[in-house]
Amino acid sequence: MKGKFGNTTPFLHQLSFVLIVWIMLDSLFLLDMAGRHDMSYRKREMYGDDSLVTLLFAGDVMGHKPQVDAAYDRATGQYDYSDCFRYVEPYIQSADFACANLEVTLGGPPYTGYPCFSSPDALLFEVQNTGFDLLFTANNHVLDRGKKGVERTIKMLDSVGMPHAGSYVDSISCDTSYPIIMDVKGLKVGFINATYGTNGIKEKAPNVVNKLDTVQMARNLERLDEMGADLKVAVLHWGNEYELKGNKSQLRCAQSLVNHGADLIIGGHPHVVQNADTIFNASGEPIVLYYSLGNFISNQQKLETKGGIMVKVTVNRFTGHVEATEYIPYFVFIGTIHGKHQYYVVPCVPYLNGAYDFSLPKHDSTLLHTEYNAISRRLSNFTQSTE
Ligand SMILES: [Zn+2]
Repeated sequence: MKGKFGNTTPFLHQLSFVLIVWIMLDSLFLLDMAGRHDMSYRKREMYGDDSLVTLLFAGDVMGHKPQVDAAYDRATGQYDYSDCFRYVEPYIQSADFACANLEVTLGGPPYTGYPCFSSPDALLFEVQNTGFDLLFTANNHVLDRGKKGVERTIKMLDSVGMPHAGSYVDSISCDTSYPIIMDVKGLKVGFINATYGTNGIKEKAPNVVNKLDTVQMARNLERLDEMGADLKVAVLHWGNEYELKGNKSQLRCAQSLVNHGADLIIGGHPHVVQNADTIFNASGEPIVLYYSLGNFISNQQKLETKGGIMVKVTVNRFTGHVEATEYIPYFVFIGTIHGKHQYYVVPCVPYLNGAYDFSLPKHDSTLLHTEYNAISRRLSNFTQSTE
């Protein structure tokens, strides 16, 4: 066709092609939006309109021999840890989901502390009663009681219905249950968990302990995507003991995981609270990296090892986006409260605000205050909980 605008046929063909592509793209986009809307709607119907969920991360649950002794009740002949976590329990209970690193084996008697940890099962029962929903076992003490210790720990965790990640009886069990996804009010939170090593002890076949292997961890993050995770968290056992700052090789490892899709990185092992960093993923989004939360409970005596933090992460349930993070500092007090000698995890802010019905001895009160100030300075770029 040739008209007053010249040969319009090629132009019309181009126009119709553009229109068809536009309509196709548009309908795909609409379908996608409808699908997402539908999913959000269903989640809202199931879980109410509250779009936020909170995840709480605690550090290393240690079990030195004096802790075991303090838990022993002569009257009953039983072990009882029931007062250790009473002051942090409200934080753990009020979170939608809570997890920690179990850095002892439940290897059965004789119960032993450092260097080869085996704690009474009562420790697990109390951790569970406190409100933890998932425990990590990839740490340098997982092989402290050898194959029997690995297997008995897993058996105990399974027997009380406590989800766990990090070590496995064999590769079949690892392949079928790792990486792990937890459903937190409709939000699918995926976890990978690995350790730098196992104190020079090699696991005996067919046991498996997850190691800090960036290629393997990248593969597991990919696997979490395939499994439909909304949020991917790397919980890592790493770093230099007693150093107050994360190091360059950790930063490189973290960056590699973030490049492969990790949305949050939480570390442990150094026995002290380390600094935290914000790093960026491939889309330029900020990702929070806490190098080390410190001991959750221990008999360590140096001041920096008595302080620790829990990290509370607020996530949008519908988008999987991390909306906020804040840390809750605490101090491990070893002594007597209300007539009972025990190990107590005491949150610093309420203690300093006079919210509790006890006072620590003056020496410990001063230590708590000093350590609180030190942690606050170390994490000055991050938000501290006011509760
Ligand atoms: Zn460790």
